[in-house]
Amino acid sequence: MNVADSQRLASAFEQLGYTASEAIENADVIILNTCMVRQSAEDKALGRLSSLKPLKIERPDLIIGLMGCMVGTKDQSVIRKKLPYVDVFAPPSDPKPIIDYLLEKELQEHDQNENPFVRQFTWESGELLLPESERRNPVSAYIPIVYGCSHACAYCIIPYKRGVERSRDPQEILDHARSLARQGVKEVTLLGQIIDRYAKDRPDYPTLAQLLEQIHEIDGIERIRFLTSHPNWMTDDLLDVVNRLPKVMRHIEVPAQAGNDVVLQNMHRGYTDAAYRALIAKIREKIPGVSIGTDIIVGFPGETEEQFEDTVSQLRDLKLNVVHLARYSPRTGTLSERTMVDDVPDSEKWRRFRVIEKLQEGIAAEIHQKLLDQTLPVLFEEKKKNRWVGRTENMDLVFVESQDDLTGKIIPVKISWTGPWTLIGTIAG
Ligand code: SAH
Repeated sequence: MNVADSQRLASAFEQLGYTASEAIENADVIILNTCMVRQSAEDKALGRLSSLKPLKIERPDLIIGLMGCMVGTKDQSVIRKKLPYVDVFAPPSDPKPIIDYLLEKELQEHDQNENPFVRQFTWESGELLLPESERRNPVSAYIPIVYGCSHACAYCIIPYKRGVERSRDPQEILDHARSLARQGVKEVTLLGQIIDRYAKDRPDYPTLAQLLEQIHEIDGIERIRFLTSHPNWMTDDLLDVVNRLPKVMRHIEVPAQAGNDVVLQNMHRGYTDAAYRALIAKIREKIPGVSIGTDIIVGFPGETEEQFEDTVSQLRDLKLNVVHLARYSPRTGTLSERTMVDDVPDSEKWRRFRVIEKLQEGIAAEIHQKLLDQTLPVLFEEKKKNRWVGRTENMDLVFVESQDDLTGKIIPVKISWTGPWTLIGTIAG
């Protein structure tokens, strides 16, 4: 979501006539987009931010902006006071304060006619262009369709920072997708914290299943993905559409977070281990060949060794394709931070993390091994070192050697080597 937010801001910058700077030291404007989902993300943002301070001291006319969850949607007075060298602040998914600040500055400092971009800029006029850096490799792009979140999982700070759940206007989404297609984008990924809740706040909007059908009609878009789903909101309609529409990839990201019912209840996830397992069985029945990804948090407050073992059993039984693993990190203001003790020691969180990492390495290796000698369509994105990197329909990463320019092409690849995290192949035929 932050990548999408940054792209939208960069696109607005380009419409104002700004271009990307090669080095941070040469930039007139630096915007830091921030994440707070775990302490490590917050530390990284704070570290980068303090590294910008000397630049501002050296060049007082440098404009520094802060965006994203560190700013949030609520009262900004505390953060403004704490960071006096930051000129402008913007909440997540809303670049408007930054652009308005630049517009005002331009108008103050120059005759407005000097900058034709500024003269022409209106929020409505903007085609959602990919920023120049992306346009050199316009293969895959993100489209936010649900902003914010109102679910309030006990551990999660996102609802406090990104505001209440808002579904984006379907016409705007389609315009965005068409604009991306015109720019040569082949794959779009629809984004939302709980994407399968799309239109729940707007009964007049199409459902996610219907929206996927509409995007499917757009010429030039070859692959459509969406993330992240919550188990309780996955409808049969949605699964049927994924199965039926060839451009919608057979890949579902539907996090379990834990495999023990007490932990799930403490997390306020709203389902049981049995319900999650039943859902996975249904997804697999309805969408043959589907790949499934989950998120797991280890070391949630009060998680006992036995409860953790339930999560291990769930993963061992279900053999999902991808597990995004995190160690619990208390986030100020969340329910678990306010009402529960972070009582699993860090060393134990790490141990549980490694147990699952090792288990999943074996599962992924086994799943991938079955792909050996198969020929799969791969969408190529870019050349890294001397190998082309692409993705299968199931999101598996594939490396291929080729002298040709494969950017944005979907080509059958015969898989010649498999590992737990990547595949290697040769162009077939
Ligand atoms: N709304 C999406 C994305 C949430 S953030 C979803 O529900 O999947 C991505 C992942 O970060 C979450 O799924 C969760 O596994 C993890 N996460 C969120 N808050 C966390 C916290 N306080 N500590 C550790 N991991 C966390």
